[in-house]
Amino acid sequence: MDKITHTNTPVLDNFWMPFTANRQFKASPRLLAAADGMYYTDVDGNKVLDGTAGLWCVNAGHGRKKITQAVERQLSTMDFAPTFQMGHPIAFDFAAKLAAHAPGGPKAGLDRIFFTGSGSESVDTALKIAIAYQRAIGQGTRTRIIGREKGYHGVGFGGISVGGLVNNRRVFPQIPADHMRHTLDVERNAFSKGLPAHGIELAEDLERLVALHGAETIAAVIVEPMSGSAGVILPPKGYLERLRAIADKHGILLIFDEVITGFGRLGTPFATDYFGVVPDLVTTAKGITNGTIPMGAVFASRKVYDGLMTGPENQIELFHGYTYSGHPVACAAGLATMEVYEEEGLLTRASELASDWENALHSLKGLPHVVDIRNLGLVGAIELAPRDGAPGTRAYDVFVDCFQKGLLIRVTGDIIALSPPLIIERAQIETIVSVVGDALKRAA
Ligand code: PLP
Repeated sequence: MDKITHTNTPVLDNFWMPFTANRQFKASPRLLAAADGMYYTDVDGNKVLDGTAGLWCVNAGHGRKKITQAVERQLSTMDFAPTFQMGHPIAFDFAAKLAAHAPGGPKAGLDRIFFTGSGSESVDTALKIAIAYQRAIGQGTRTRIIGREKGYHGVGFGGISVGGLVNNRRVFPQIPADHMRHTLDVERNAFSKGLPAHGIELAEDLERLVALHGAETIAAVIVEPMSGSAGVILPPKGYLERLRAIADKHGILLIFDEVITGFGRLGTPFATDYFGVVPDLVTTAKGITNGTIPMGAVFASRKVYDGLMTGPENQIELFHGYTYSGHPVACAAGLATMEVYEEEGLLTRASELASDWENALHSLKGLPHVVDIRNLGLVGAIELAPRDGAPGTRAYDVFVDCFQKGLLIRVTGDIIALSPPLIIERAQIETIVSVVGDALKRAA
């Protein structure tokens, strides 16, 4: 098939860009035109190494023929079909495929799958399932959700309510929620390799909120097992286990938001597998289709699903769903993506690279303004001391510098986040570290 070519100098006025300083960007745009394997090509023909798997999603690398061909085939066979009171085989096939890889393995029973169109939709879906489940089992006063400071759960009203990033929250009204303390503790845990040693006691913050609100008002607690968007915040050793125990004690459901950690990022299929802690609901998106077609999925436990499959059989059990739930083209992309992950062992490849990745990242310790380095699986963060009176500008300068040198990284505040495609080679890890290191020296 012919490649599409666009003008190198598009009119920039009309696209209102998400999570972007539109005026700054449009004054000096960075435009990508093509992608293959580990690389983008920008509109001027420069190659850019993808240090972020797009936006934490292109886990198998770009331009995977198996996936693009499956999409083309599905598009020319059946472009769309509804899933409200109707079905099509590929949606069931994809759910069955996902169930075979479900978080926590067969024993966890997280194999009832609700399709959405994005991570934000997965989060709102999981919150609604949790509240509906509590009501269905006679716990209708449980409508409050507990999130965590610095949590990111997308941008729906549910997601921002349980999220803990002030910029995403301050302008908008929210649903009833409260927040546990975050677990970032650079003072005690700086330059930890892997999971930080200090902070398990922060899980007890859930007890504080139970004491404040009453367990009978709380439906669920949602956390990212590893927070990505806030700058790669890792759970202290034992923290998630403790959270599970407290939630169980009080009849509170536990939701893991695995939109980033799902599909191999930590070296196991899901963070649920990495930590051996089984939640009641798992939200996913991004890597589910390798980023090719928008899609998300919520994995629900059989306990939760069965709890809602009550009442007359001719009545809808959950008044919730999206036009694009189980979209056939997304399911085709997802099925092909899972096959690529299986054939190439990508759901566990990060575990093979994790120690080289860790050593490479930590070699940046000692460079100017670096106050912390964090890593797990194939995720990393380099936290910089902010410039006086101009927070965020130092990391932003490093980001622009890296892009000009042919490397895409991501910055949030003064934290550089790295999450390359899981097909990365060791030499490319070295390239990432050397380009970032040089940029850090220049930023000094
Ligand atoms: N939840 C987490 C943990 C995320 O990292 C993200 C996106 O980065 C989302 C939810 C929202 O996903 P989306 O942007 O697909 O709506």
